[in-house]
Amino acid sequence: MQELLQLQHNGTNALKTAIILGAGFAGCTIAHLLKNKGWEVKVLEKSSHPGGGCKTLFYGGHPYTNGPRLYYGYSEKVFKWISKFVDMRDLDFQLRSYVESERRFFTYPIHEDDIPYMSKSKHIYRELEDIKKDKEDKERPKNFDEYWKSRVGETLYDMFVNEYSKKMWLLDSNKEIDTFAWSAKDSPINKGSKAAYKGSYLAYPYGLNGYDPYFYQCLDGIDVKYKTAFKSLTEDRKGVIDENGETFKADLIISTLPIDQLLNYEYGTLPYAGRTFIPFVLPIEHIIPGDVLFLHYTQKEQYTRIVEYKKLTGFEDPNTLMVMELPASSDVGGKLYPYMIKKYINQANEYRKRLPDNIFSIGRLGTYRYSTIEQTIAQAFQAYKTITGESIDGLDKEFYQIGDTAIVSDRKNVDSNKE
Ligand SMILES: Cc1cc2nc3c(=O)[nH]c(=O)nc-3n(C[C@H](O)[C@H](O)[C@H](O)COP(=O)(O)OP(=O)(O)OC[C@H]3O[C@@H](n4cnc5c(N)ncnc54)[C@H](O)[C@@H]3O)c2cc1C
Repeated sequence: MQELLQLQHNGTNALKTAIILGAGFAGCTIAHLLKNKGWEVKVLEKSSHPGGGCKTLFYGGHPYTNGPRLYYGYSEKVFKWISKFVDMRDLDFQLRSYVESERRFFTYPIHEDDIPYMSKSKHIYRELEDIKKDKEDKERPKNFDEYWKSRVGETLYDMFVNEYSKKMWLLDSNKEIDTFAWSAKDSPINKGSKAAYKGSYLAYPYGLNGYDPYFYQCLDGIDVKYKTAFKSLTEDRKGVIDENGETFKADLIISTLPIDQLLNYEYGTLPYAGRTFIPFVLPIEHIIPGDVLFLHYTQKEQYTRIVEYKKLTGFEDPNTLMVMELPASSDVGGKLYPYMIKKYINQANEYRKRLPDNIFSIGRLGTYRYSTIEQTIAQAFQAYKTITGESIDGLDKEFYQIGDTAIVSDRKNVDSNKE
């Protein structure tokens, strides 16, 4: 990469063509930035449209996406950036988790005002007291299971997190998850208002086509080859071959595909969790009361989450659209969630280290990171900075970890946490 930067700084025009694999947030953003810098850019996209999982779909005329894909983030700069392309509606909402043994829904993140209504409230308070007392002697938790037990106690953990997380990740035990920087930090018990993700930028596009205008505007004037799936790199790694055997060459290749697939699984296969999404319409204008947006199902139900899309999209209709999400293996439900387990993260890092200088791997699957829309856009700016040496308004520095509540506490007076 040093060589690349050197060439750029020396002002040679040698590096002016790029092939971008995948037209989701990462691919579209970097394509747009490089094109504006005068590069000749070609995008290869497997699907017939851009957007990846953030593409708006329709069922019975109701707009929805696969997974809620609401915008939530910490960076004012990234929020302003996306708002230049799509008019964003600010959201303020709550979430609920159903706990079958209690036969009721409770606020999620767990809220202190709900504890008195839990059948085991005395026991829960005792566990929370014990946690406070033990705080100093406690070793750093080694895994997700220990982390949650040490923050909320065993009872709340079993009510809200234990089974949910195992079914979501298709794991037998949450002890297998040995990182949690992407999860809640500090005290995961919420206080004050019951709003979710307090202090973050929470929004969804006003337009019924959701984020689609972002993708099409970014790709304006760019040669995009739809229904063109990447198959492999050329032997010299200076080009790519698509599924029909056509070869495309360029100075730079920027991939947003799973990094193990990009390098032909040379250093082993990385696991991903998938989901099956089931949209269904109900004959009622609104079904989830108030400003509650999704419902989590925390126990042995087959599904993890049900989202009422009207609340995100603002769509008006006498009926309402719900989408149920069922965890699935990546063979069935696609490669959606990288596993935040050290051995796989290290394996992904090995892949990254071995990328030739002319190849970048960015985006959620390209970095094997549990990243949001905001983080994915920030990654494209980071890549742009490395390629061109140019920072656009410091956006390359705007990658914040989920759970970095210190960032938002300055902005708004918040006492909240994030999932
Ligand atoms: C279920 C779910 C819910 C989510 N909800 C939220 C949320 O509420 N808020 C939030 O901020 N983030 C959310 N995210 C994360 C967010 O959507 C992603 O971080 C972001 O969309 C990733 O963009 P990307 O460009 O990296 O990847 P993608 O959008 O996956 O883009 C990759 C592109 O590559 C294409 N492609 C795949 N294989 C090939 C091939 N062989 N050849 C050519 N093209 C190919 C795909 O069709 C796709 O268009 C969610 C993620 C999931 C999985």
